[in-house]
Amino acid sequence: MTRSFTYRGMPHEVVFGDGASAGIGERIDALGCSRALVLTTPHQADDGWALARTLGDRSAGLFSEAAMHTPVSVTEQAMEHVAETGADCLVALGGGSTTGLGKAIAYRTDLPQIVVPTTYAGSEVTPILGQTEHGRKTTLKDPKVLPEVVIYDPALTLGLPVSMSVTSALNAMAHAAEGLYAQDRNPIVSIMAAEGLRAMRSALPVIVDAPDDRAARGEALYGAWLCGMVLGTVGMALHHKICHTLGGSFDTPHAETHAIMLPHTIGFNAEAVPELLQPVADIFGGTPGTGLFDFAGHVGASRALKDLGLSEADLDRAAELSTQNAYWNPRPIEHAGIRALLQDAWEGRRPAR
Ligand code: NAD
Repeated sequence: MTRSFTYRGMPHEVVFGDGASAGIGERIDALGCSRALVLTTPHQADDGWALARTLGDRSAGLFSEAAMHTPVSVTEQAMEHVAETGADCLVALGGGSTTGLGKAIAYRTDLPQIVVPTTYAGSEVTPILGQTEHGRKTTLKDPKVLPEVVIYDPALTLGLPVSMSVTSALNAMAHAAEGLYAQDRNPIVSIMAAEGLRAMRSALPVIVDAPDDRAARGEALYGAWLCGMVLGTVGMALHHKICHTLGGSFDTPHAETHAIMLPHTIGFNAEAVPELLQPVADIFGGTPGTGLFDFAGHVGASRALKDLGLSEADLDRAAELSTQNAYWNPRPIEHAGIRALLQDAWEGRRPAR
């Protein structure tokens, strides 16, 4: 059969390399900007000030209140800071939370963004923004939100603790795994997904043994870029829906939830599309679900939802919420199957396939 697909590229520049973050000033100039507001979480404020100092006259200071799930109240504070400082662009230094704040400001102002990722979440190459207000998380997709420049510098990820490196990488791998069977998949995205998974497969065990191995850190960041590109280009399905439900309704931590659910959701869908998930089995061994489960154990990831504080009594409601509002998935979704999958994930049981 002739191939049939649509491919739309995303306009942004990616700079990759050890020490690449030294070129942020030049990128600010190339964007035609002169006053960059640096963004971080409180935890990375010292790194943010250090970066602001290296920018010299190009710095409009630091806003260091970025928080998980992009609370609108924090964005509003940051908007005041933008107005007071006269910033004409943003430099987000950090993980998905800091990138999210930069995107939220860009959504409201269209200010250009330079992102310097320090985790493997992959948000920096997607036009997707999740925001929370009054306890509710909503997600939007808008080209305005896509950062103009992304600078991947492996040296900045050396300090990412091993446990966060592992969960963050498994979070990124979930984007790639679901991209393999996306309804709107295309050949380029499938190549990026398989290569992203391969990069994580080779990098993570090395990082666990030697967290300051620069080559492995670079390989994981390369994997993060590819996995993020998959998320930004094609639609997600069951896995992302369940993780969104668990995070939104039961407040489970973002990356850890993805890490635990991944073998179960991919194992569930492997029954319907084994051929599309064959790259996962080729890379991790076994079947798609068991290969991912064994890999997660090998790199020391937590594998049971009960470890995240979710109670067994919550599983019925989680299954109900995860099967509401029909959405596309390669395997039909019904309550009993999802409830059983959640039970396995809660107990940390190895998936059947
Ligand atoms: P994070 O950004 O919340 O970071 C967690 C903590 O680790 C923070 O305190 C941060 O400052 C710290 N940290 C980050 N890098 C570090 C480093 N190198 N060394 C030491 N500490 C470091 O975590 P995350 O998992 O990257 O991001 C999660 C958020 O990203 C969620 O809100 C999620 O919804 C969002 N996300 C969005 C997309 C998208 O496309 N919109 C994609 C993936 C994730």
